[in-house]
Parts: sequence; C-alpha cells; structure tokens
Amino acid sequence: MATTKRWVDANGKQHGGLPFVKNTLGQLLGNVVYLGKVRHKDEFHEGQHPAIVDANLWRDVHEVLDRNHRTAGAFQRNRYGALLKGLLRCKPCDAAMVHSPVSTNHRQYRYYVCTNAQKIGYEHCPCPSLRAASIEQSVLERLRAIPFNNTKLRGSPIAAAVGALLERPAETIPSELAASVRVLVESVEHDARAGRIGLTLTPEAADCLSPRAGA
Ligand SMILES: [Zn+2]
Repeated sequence: MATTKRWVDANGKQHGGLPFVKNTLGQLLGNVVYLGKVRHKDEFHEGQHPAIVDANLWRDVHEVLDRNHRTAGAFQRNRYGALLKGLLRCKPCDAAMVHSPVSTNHRQYRYYVCTNAQKIGYEHCPCPSLRAASIEQSVLERLRAIPFNNTKLRGSPIAAAVGALLERPAETIPSELAASVRVLVESVEHDARAGRIGLTLTPEAADCLSPRAGA
C-alpha cells in the first residue's frame, strides 16, 4: 500500500509513512487551498483565488503543530474531521473523552464519550456522552469570542489559524478547521457539574491575547 512521505525532523523524530487512504490528504495538517492552490487528482494547480494567507505564515502553523505533536498523530487519523479529537476531557472524572461515531440507518451520529465511564460504568460519570456537533459548536463560539490582539497576531504563527476561524467560518472545510483549533487550543474540559466548558490555549495563542484578556 502506498504511504505518505516519510521524513525525519531536527529532533530525529519520524513523520509520515502513514497508509495513503482516500481522505489522508485533506486531513494532513493544513490545506493547500490556503496557498491559493487547488488540488486536482493529486496534482497541485494554481488556484483561481489569490493566496489568502501568506505561505510562510501557513508554514509557521505547521511548525506549531509539529512542536505540539502530542495530538498530531490522533489528528492525522481524524477521519471525521472531529474538531475536539484528542483535546476534550471530562472534568469530573479527570479523563479523556474519545470521539465515537455511530452509524444507524445510513445516518452518522457523532459523540464524545468519557473513557472513565466506559471503563467503570456510565453511572459513575455525571455526563458520560456529549453530542459532538453541539460541544464543537460551543467551543467554536468560545474561540471566536476570544479577544486576540491584532498587533500581536501580525507575524505570529497562529494568525492563519485565527483567520480560518474568524474570517470564513462557513467556507472552512472540517479538516482545516480542526487544524486551526489545534493550533489555538491545548485542551478543552467539559465540566458537567459546573455546567461550563474550560479552554486551555496553546502558549502561542495565549501570547496573542489582548492585555486585558489575560488578566
Ligand atoms: Zn466522566
């Protein structure tokens, strides 16, 4: 079976070599549409639209993702473009919530399920499963409301991710959006008891907050 390109980074860590399945390209971190190019039958063509994000900027985003490679593997296997895969935690149980797609009658339902509830019983968790679409929407709304500082964003590796989130939410494809969320968010805690969602930003994103927001 064909695999994605294998390469070794400066730290000697191996990347790539993943089975080249149908969706892999779209799910690799980032997307060439950002560079004004359109993929057509595995060839890259100059796109109709101008590059909306500077190529160097988008490369920076990839570097941030590589550095934070704790979730990169999970993301590359993210067949459903699940926004919070590898990021969501159940606060009362202090456990990961895993993305769980369920198919019934030709329809796809997606949930995030508490791994502690899976292990020791659903009655031990105040909220063992969440509708994926609803928690993803809530997190996106929270992210869009974050007061990033435009001056600090300029030239920051997270600028492209913030742009993808804010500027064209309706046009952004799921894998692009998921990549952008990973650049900005280190973890999301669902606290069913307090009825709140806690976001922990990546250091790069926290660096770009408006001064008052960090206080
Ligand atoms: Zn739980």
